[in-house]
Amino acid sequence: MRKRDLGKFKTLLTEEKKRILQNALRTADRNVTIDADDVPDIVDLATSDLNLNLNVEIRERERHLVGKIDEALSRIEDGSFGTCDECGEAIQMARLQARPMTTLCIRCKEEQEELEKRGAGRREDEDDRFPIKPLASSND
Ligand SMILES: [Zn+2]
Repeated sequence: MRKRDLGKFKTLLTEEKKRILQNALRTADRNVTIDADDVPDIVDLATSDLNLNLNVEIRERERHLVGKIDEALSRIEDGSFGTCDECGEAIQMARLQARPMTTLCIRCKEEQEELEKRGAGRREDEDDRFPIKPLASSND
């Protein structure tokens, strides 16, 4: 892959990571402001529990995504970015643009999905679409 393209992916991934982390901080701020005195009845209490659970899930997802972005960034550093983990072939540019965190070319991904459908393969994480859409907030 050309250096210029690598640089583009690096910028893309770094900015996405920044955005996720900023979003995570905002979520954390919301949690801090939840106060038992502000919860007048059992319905609201249940709702605030739900929101707390939701926030934990969001953070797990964010952690997961940031981990994947970090992996992609280190692949850029060590020169393996854009190369399929399974077959060693170049991953198609269009696929990388849609899913820069992917480690499999489309052919190997399809084979893996086929195996999973038959229940034979190890369960891999789904590729994450890019740009990553923010999760619906609890106010939606
Ligand atoms: Zn492959």
